[in-house]
Amino acid sequence: MSIKRRDFLKTAAGSSLALAAGIRSGPAEAKEQRLSPEAVGILYDSNLCIGCQACMTACKQANDMPVEPGDQEDIWDRPLDLSATTLNIIKMYDGGETPAFVKRQCLHCLEPACVTACPVSALEKDQRTGVVTYDKKACIGCRYCQIVCPYNVPKFEWDDPFPQIRKCQFCDHLFDQGRYSACCESCPTGASLFGPFRDLKQEAERRLQMEPGRYYEFPVNHIGTGKTQTHKAEPYVREIYGAEELGGTQVLLLSGVDFTKLGLPKVRNKSYVSDVESISSTLYSYMLLPAAVFGGLLYVSKRNGKHE
Ligand code: SF4
Ligand code: SF4
Ligand code: SF4
Repeated sequence: MSIKRRDFLKTAAGSSLALAAGIRSGPAEAKEQRLSPEAVGILYDSNLCIGCQACMTACKQANDMPVEPGDQEDIWDRPLDLSATTLNIIKMYDGGETPAFVKRQCLHCLEPACVTACPVSALEKDQRTGVVTYDKKACIGCRYCQIVCPYNVPKFEWDDPFPQIRKCQFCDHLFDQGRYSACCESCPTGASLFGPFRDLKQEAERRLQMEPGRYYEFPVNHIGTGKTQTHKAEPYVREIYGAEELGGTQVLLLSGVDFTKLGLPKVRNKSYVSDVESISSTLYSYMLLPAAVFGGLLYVSKRNGKHE
């Protein structure tokens, strides 16, 4: 059986990538337990959202992004979906029932496929905050992150001569100023709520226990500030989207309408990253990968020696 040198090198490079991904991801234990106590997140509650889009405007201002007009005459920002100039969007579901809103943005996965796929570590999960960050200087524009993101989040600047990948980074450039995600800072109802991830998870669980029709206090803007508003509890779908999906995410969503109707994909609980981990650790434990790489290199060097 003959093997071309180019094919071998491609296979070896692919295996090394998978291996590198496995090493970077660590063992497949519950990722949430391993999150730093300083990990932050966003809880979006569709039942509290009034569709004002203040969060979209604030996001554009905080990230210095232009409006997306609907047509050439139009001066208003009317994006239809996430894009290289819209990192956060409120969409409306109107399926004949009561209209419901949904917020789309990067979910800051606990086991982010984009981080694993990026060959140059331009995307990283911050050890302290858990924010999935992007380094434009490292990016080579391969767009692997776009292909693997299960939520279709990263966007590419197609019309820029020096294109970057764009996605929400929780406005982490504001953290040093004592500020936080602009969408949550600006939300008038508490529908977008920022804070320590563990507190937000508890708050989401508390809301699922609420009795519909009764009035409760709901934290506003940042769960740590103590600022609250009184709202009547509406019925919730008894699920927190993001609690389990593909290993969990640092953006959690609550809704009164089935999440699939809001355009959120139904995905399995086990992350794809953990599949890569198992494959690479199996290969390593049986020394298959090093043996394959060594065998391939030996073959190539012998063949080159013969030619000479
Ligand atoms: S939602 Fe997509 S872009 Fe965001 S962290 Fe998860 S895989 Fe990466
Ligand atoms: S496009 Fe950039 S960020 Fe995305 S995978 Fe490639 S190098 Fe990484
Ligand atoms: S600012 Fe708050 S209430 Fe207004 S659209 Fe955004 S999430 Fe909904």
